[in-house]
Amino acid sequence: MSRARPILLLLVIALLVIPGTAAPAQANWAGATGDTGCGDLNKADNRDHTYYESSLSTAFNGPATYGLNYVDSVAYVSTTSVSAPTGTTDQVIYDNAYTSYCNRPWWRPGSGGTIGNTRCVSDNSANECEKHEVRLSTSWGNSSSATLSKRRSLVIHETGHALGLSHRSVSGEVMQPSITSILTFTSHDIDHFASLS
Ligand SMILES: [Zn+2]
Repeated sequence: MSRARPILLLLVIALLVIPGTAAPAQANWAGATGDTGCGDLNKADNRDHTYYESSLSTAFNGPATYGLNYVDSVAYVSTTSVSAPTGTTDQVIYDNAYTSYCNRPWWRPGSGGTIGNTRCVSDNSANECEKHEVRLSTSWGNSSSATLSKRRSLVIHETGHALGLSHRSVSGEVMQPSITSILTFTSHDIDHFASLS
């Protein structure tokens, strides 16, 4: 028991210093509302989650469909692809070689950085988020460090933000702040989905 703790701490530290960590998108866990800036406070307005994939590149086209299909299989949430985005589409996904969007330190070869960002762009009358935009880095997505599992995991992670999940400080979860190959939400995450209307 006492020997296990230093090992766990080393693992946590190692994960945090890996170059290419995911976006520090600070979605709320407990239900903060009203933010449509880059602060990313974003209680989801519902759990009937419509989404639109905006001309995604090869790096993220398949992973986006995979990730949203997985989320559709999760308890309490359903996802529906729409043929054109509207003002109430819950999640619109873009990818590009971002360098300055939301003033994030976007990923660059050799230096790592942000690989995905989720932002609320429109609130409803209850100050809950009506519409999120997800931005995925093609600079990272086309690099050798972006395995298929990691690209899928990034989509699930950012969709978690669009459903109101914050980062988790527990390592080994898809909602930890750095990239993983994890493709499932935890029961903790799913408990949050149950709280959505
Ligand atoms: Zn994140």
